[in-house]
Amino acid sequence: MSRIVVLGAGESGVGAAILAKAKGFDVLVSDLSEIKPEYKKELDDNGVRWEEKGHSADEILKADEVIKSPGIPDKAPLVAELRTRGVPVISEIEFAGRYTDSKMICITGSNGKTTTTMLTYHTLKKAGLDVGLAGNVGFSLARQVAVDPHDYYVIELSSFQLDGMYDFKADIAVLLNITPDHLDRYDYKFQNYVDSKFRIVQNMTEADSFIYWNDDPVIQAELAKRDIKASKCPFALEKAEGLAAYVENEILKFEIKDKKIDMELSKLSLKGQHNVYNSMASGLSAAVLNLTKETIRESLSDFQGVEHRLEAVARVRNVLFVNDSKATNVNSCWYALQCMNTPVVLILGGKDKGNDYSEIEELVKQKVRAIVCLGVDNSKLHDFFDGKVQNIADASSMKEAVEKSFQFAEKGDTVLLSPCCASFDLFQSYEDRGRQFKEQVRNL
Ligand code: ADP
Repeated sequence: MSRIVVLGAGESGVGAAILAKAKGFDVLVSDLSEIKPEYKKELDDNGVRWEEKGHSADEILKADEVIKSPGIPDKAPLVAELRTRGVPVISEIEFAGRYTDSKMICITGSNGKTTTTMLTYHTLKKAGLDVGLAGNVGFSLARQVAVDPHDYYVIELSSFQLDGMYDFKADIAVLLNITPDHLDRYDYKFQNYVDSKFRIVQNMTEADSFIYWNDDPVIQAELAKRDIKASKCPFALEKAEGLAAYVENEILKFEIKDKKIDMELSKLSLKGQHNVYNSMASGLSAAVLNLTKETIRESLSDFQGVEHRLEAVARVRNVLFVNDSKATNVNSCWYALQCMNTPVVLILGGKDKGNDYSEIEELVKQKVRAIVCLGVDNSKLHDFFDGKVQNIADASSMKEAVEKSFQFAEKGDTVLLSPCCASFDLFQSYEDRGRQFKEQVRNL
């Protein structure tokens, strides 16, 4: 019997272990931290051995194959040692993909993955298909393949998951955009990160479809270098030769082979230019699957959005508060600012990942009345923005940030939490940051 070791006992690791056990492997789950009680129980119920707060390196190094959680970097000593010894290290999605023939709609990009994944899932569900939601959102693919299989899966893929994928093939691959992110995991080489994102098209054949943003210069440069077999479905804002989706006279148009769908731009439920892209990507996936025009139009116009992504929280004395806590890099904040049509009080800050704020400088000058810096160390924000906005202040808690923002705001303004940074200096996660924001807004 082959021995499989699963490193990391989060949702993907536990799912992989359940599937591996069901397929008759000898499985050990090993986690450096404490495993959540509910996961321990599940592993016990499935007869899977587990260990926590440390790794039994001897046993792990003897594994035939290792399934690594996306959160564990390749630089972790144990992973480096496995690679030196030639033990295959794969991701949970790669493993699960071996045990299913279902149709895979896979979505990646630096920004917009979750939104596009949820919107696509919503559309397929509305069409009455038997569909599962997997990857970074929902239950792991492996768990669903083992205990709750579906005909279709909409899968959000981060670059870390893609890194452990080799033979897996998507039926539909969506690549939304590529801007620098997570470079600490890629030896600070942007090309390594780009290569990781392009793994989404590996193994695809002429029968598969590749949906991507045509105006992304990074994607364009890669297309020129690569021989991609899948049928190409590019989208962009302005009409051009060969596009599968574009906007003309405020009408969103989809054109795939002989299928044509028109929809008024104003009917899209998600607002902002970036969400036009996300809607195009979802609509194209649905059109490739031959869903009806009605289903596509309806789904794109009644989708409720995802928490912490440009989420309108409340209006307090005519000041609108918007929670975009998921904007953990500069590019996503750019899109948030870009779609603001009132003066903005911007809450920025947190754990900086090597940010270059010049990308948002113009928009800040045009639209931002005041910046509130919410972080343990705000010095980089001050170095960049001091003198470029009317007002800049510091806050060391969400309560203080919301109160100061409210003082700066004038009637008709928007207070936007779109921090450009990770949250881990003051919060547990971006969700925690977003929830605290909403709570403090409600306390005003
Ligand atoms: P991801 O899962 O890739 O992090 P999300 O859908 O969670 O993406 O959105 C993250 C942030 O990026 C949000 O703040 C959102 O406003 C912004 N965003 C969403 N879609 C796009 C896009 N297509 N291009 C740029 N920014 C986007």
